Amino acid sequence: MNELDLRGIVKRYNPGKPSQITVLDGLDLAVARGEVVALVAPSGAGKSTLLHIAGLLDSPDAGEVWVGGQAMAGQGDRVRTAVRRREIGFVYQFHHLLPEFTAAENIILPQLADGVARSVADARAADLLARVGLSARARHRPAELSGGEQQRVAFCRALANGPKLLLADEPTGNLDPATSDQVFDVLMDIVRSTGLSALIATHNPELAARMDRILHLQAGRISG
Ligand code: ADP
Repeated sequence: MNELDLRGIVKRYNPGKPSQITVLDGLDLAVARGEVVALVAPSGAGKSTLLHIAGLLDSPDAGEVWVGGQAMAGQGDRVRTAVRRREIGFVYQFHHLLPEFTAAENIILPQLADGVARSVADARAADLLARVGLSARARHRPAELSGGEQQRVAFCRALANGPKLLLADEPTGNLDPATSDQVFDVLMDIVRSTGLSALIATHNPELAARMDRILHLQAGRISG
């Protein structure tokens, strides 16, 4: 079964205006359960647009999005929000952690928002931080962490609610090459050990080569 299915996705910006552009033009893409797929494309090709649509943060103008075998077309906000919160983890190029909360709290808050008991959420945050080697940083705020540490905490937050699908938009693009390699190792370890499916956008051919499959986004479609 596919964890993610995108079928015939069309996305335009500024429709009907002289500035209209068609960013995604009938795009088909599938990520099988447990598969880790690289999405490679130059800047501006539409990677973020595609990941936002896959992550139910935006809707396509045409086409179908299926997550975990469930069609999202015609679903209301309540279902889309629940699927986004429980089934999908998102990692961005910049960590987007909440600055006034500690590393642990940043991982606890999404769980509380999903109705998890505080004690369970605390234990899960501690477990995730241990897995990325950051137990000693649990009480640090984001500004007190290095760039690589911030991204490792952002991975933990993305995994806080036990998603099945990880969507990552240049997750190490903001780090120096050595740190990027280390942080990517941590990400791959955690993805593989949890059996997550993942779609990871990257410019970096060496990182892409470590995934199960590489897809190129070109002229609004997947070119293989
Ligand atoms: P990538 O992530 O590959 O760099 P994006 O998905 O961010 O690409 O953007 C794809 C194209 O769509 C770019 O040409 C960008 O300028 C345009 N674009 C993105 N968001 C918007 C928007 N909200 N309104 C108009 N154009 C946009």
